[in-house]
Amino acid sequence: MYYCPKCDRAIAKDRVVEADRELRERFDIDKLSKRRCPVCDTEYIDLDKVPDGGRKHVGKGRQTGSP
Ligand SMILES: [Zn+2]
Repeated sequence: MYYCPKCDRAIAKDRVVEADRELRERFDIDKLSKRRCPVCDTEYIDLDKVPDGGRKHVGKGRQTGSP
C-alpha cells in the first residue's frame, strides 16, 4: 500500500502497477513508476515499511522521510 500524505489517499501496490501502465500509455505520465503521486507530485509513503501502528499516524506528516 502506498500513501500520499498530501492527498491523504492510499493506493494498493497492484493497483499502482495497473494505474502506472494506464497513465504512461494515455498521458505519458510516469510519476507512479517513480512512486510519486500523479496528482500532487508528492513522494508516496510505502505503508508496508511503516512500523506497526504507523498507519494511525499517517497524515500528521511524512513518516518515512526522503531517500
Ligand atoms: Zn497526492
